[in-house]
Amino acid sequence: MARRITTLTVARREQLSPSLVRVVFGDPGFGEFEPNDFTDAYVKLLLGDSEAPTMRTYTVRSVDPDRREIAIDFVVHGDEGVAGPWAARAEAGEQLSMLGPGGAYRPRSDADWHLLAGDESAIPAISAAVEALDSDAVARVYIEIEDAAHEVPIDHGPKVDVIWVHRAGADGTGEAGESPLSRAVLAGDWLPGQVHAFVHGEAQTVMHVIRPYIRRTRGVGAEWASISGYWRRGRNEESFRAWKRDLAVAEQ
Ligand SMILES: Cc1cc2nc3c(=O)[nH]c(=O)nc-3n(C[C@H](O)[C@H](O)[C@H](O)COP(=O)(O)OP(=O)(O)OC[C@H]3O[C@@H](n4cnc5c(N)ncnc54)[C@H](O)[C@@H]3O)c2cc1C
Repeated sequence: MARRITTLTVARREQLSPSLVRVVFGDPGFGEFEPNDFTDAYVKLLLGDSEAPTMRTYTVRSVDPDRREIAIDFVVHGDEGVAGPWAARAEAGEQLSMLGPGGAYRPRSDADWHLLAGDESAIPAISAAVEALDSDAVARVYIEIEDAAHEVPIDHGPKVDVIWVHRAGADGTGEAGESPLSRAVLAGDWLPGQVHAFVHGEAQTVMHVIRPYIRRTRGVGAEWASISGYWRRGRNEESFRAWKRDLAVAEQ
């Protein structure tokens, strides 16, 4: 990831759904931001004390070079944490520094079909990917949210099926990692031909249930699969990073 630091200014905040808030950033500072071509482009936000900032990772939902703005969509998940509560109250004129962008995925046009899955935290990256698909691309898109009031519009072509998976008051990820999202993906269509998969969200369900299904049960090679946790229930980002390191060591 580019180690470059950009400081942008909040232009406005928009409520996209009860759980998703968009913060639009712009000048002064836009000219310092160097976009990349990945649909999962992400930045590390530097929040709080400038001497010892708290770092949080977020997807760049969109870059508008004409308006000189970038948009980041934040899940508002209660009063816990740093970034979620900051976004819920962000005001025009506030400044925020960020590192990046990094990124690793863009839907491949040589795939026969696309599987995209995630929870609210992946809505920005999934939306950007769906918008980047060829007009005749075939895709199955699974997004776990609380209920229908949390759905957000996603522009998509005629062969893209967006399936909103509602938790409807049920807990998200269980002890073994199963979740409404994993149940929907495992029960869903598996189409013929080469898939390109993009799966991100709560780490236990993504890494312990959906990843083994795609990589082992369905035999999808690593070069056709972008799969990782974006957050982990019960852990803040610092202790989630430690969990990811431990998992990587255990898997070696
Ligand atoms: C590459 C990448 C891209 C990401 N893109 C986005 C994005 O575009 N939008 C986005 O909202 N998130 C995104 N995330 C996830 C985000 O970084 C985490 O959710 C992060 O933990 C939020 O920080 P926080 O300060 O709000 O909460 P933290 O201080 O990290 O955690 C506090 C508590 O809140 C819980 N928590 C954290 N996130 C969630 C959540 N989404 N839902 C429910 N509970 C939660 C934690 O388990 C913990 O108990 C991305 C993560 C990665 C790695």
